[in-house]
Amino acid sequence: MVNGPQASDGVRGDAFARDGAPWRLAATLARLAVPVSCPGCGLPDARLCQTCAAPWWEQPVRVEGLAPRLDIADRAALPVWSIAPLDGPTGGTIAAWKDGSRRDLDGWLASAMRRAAAEVATTLLAHGAYSLAVVPAPARRASTRRRGADLPRALARGTALGCDDAGMRATCEAVLRIGAGESRGRSARGRWREGARSISCTSAPSAPVLLIDDVLTTGATIAGCVEALERAGATVVGALTATFVDTGRARARAGLP
Ligand SMILES: [Zn+2]
Repeated sequence: MVNGPQASDGVRGDAFARDGAPWRLAATLARLAVPVSCPGCGLPDARLCQTCAAPWWEQPVRVEGLAPRLDIADRAALPVWSIAPLDGPTGGTIAAWKDGSRRDLDGWLASAMRRAAAEVATTLLAHGAYSLAVVPAPARRASTRRRGADLPRALARGTALGCDDAGMRATCEAVLRIGAGESRGRSARGRWREGARSISCTSAPSAPVLLIDDVLTTGATIAGCVEALERAGATVVGALTATFVDTGRARARAGLP
């Protein structure tokens, strides 16, 4: 092999010898298969290091008190569970997963949701819910295309497995859609508010709903999903998100450590 791949690869070797493109492609694919660093801390040659993976093994916490726009008039607060605060290594991991093409993290995060779902399902079972429709928040088509995956749906599939693990009958039912809207030129906040209002439900879920999203921020998206589902006749019994945005103040007010 001292003369490089073309010395021993026959016809393919000739192709390598003619131009370097296939060789460069192979090197690129190798880098994609083994990403060069941990998305949480930058540690080289680690897909997700042990330290940055640790928060995803925690039990989910109740976070509805952190989301000011989750309030829906005339009702008790919807219970919302979430696994990890969106800061530090968790923030890096979510950014790499959502916008850094780290599709290898899909399985990891779906597994984290599966573990968390077992805890959520135990609570819901205690309140008499025996079957669940696990409904992902709708992803914009453009986002799904750009990322090559519907991220909330991947999380919902993991969650449904976790609910099954806990003895519930659970199916992933992706019944929510989000309107394209005219968002060009608007601020991120404006697009988001408009998005929450343009959520619709294509068919009634088969059972009480556990809503799934990647990040809980103000709660406006979850509230939009709840309203769309209820218009379709569904009952929403809770929500589970992978991460939650937190300020120290909101966290203290909600009584979280
Ligand atoms: Zn790390």
